[in-house]
Amino acid sequence: MCGEEWRLTTSETERVNAAVQRLRRAGLRNTAARRGVLDQLAHAVGGRGHLSVSELHHALLARGVVVELSTVHRVLRQLVELGIAHTVPVGRTTTFGLADDIHHHAVCGTCGDMRQLPAEAVAASVAAARAVGIDTDQSGHPNGVVVYGRCVRCRTTDR
Ligand SMILES: [Zn+2]
Ligand SMILES: [Zn+2]
Repeated sequence: MCGEEWRLTTSETERVNAAVQRLRRAGLRNTAARRGVLDQLAHAVGGRGHLSVSELHHALLARGVVVELSTVHRVLRQLVELGIAHTVPVGRTTTFGLADDIHHHAVCGTCGDMRQLPAEAVAASVAAARAVGIDTDQSGHPNGVVVYGRCVRCRTTDR
């Protein structure tokens, strides 16, 4: 990761810019820490989708954005409060991802690997939950549908 050329794709940049505008509307400046966290979260969308606080912290330091761990925590809390990011627990770790599109999550309960699931993929589960009075709130706290299982890598190394 260190020294690696690090560039956002066009769609990642669009996500970050939209989030920065929401921060500005909430009266929050586009600081290096906020921008760095948003860059990492946008970059993660195409892969695992979510990152833990320490993963984000390490990634920022590797890119030369020198911030305290406590700052990363504070930035993430603000993003979650504004509905820009949301959280999913993986074991005892809280992971953070951008909440700019409606998605759900499939998690490997063994290694914590994660993939985002499109809303259509779990529409029936969401409708069933709503029918029994549980609404899946997409912003803020643990929400939506989380499918736990084991990833290909863990299944093969386990044999
Ligand atoms: Zn997510
Ligand atoms: Zn796994």
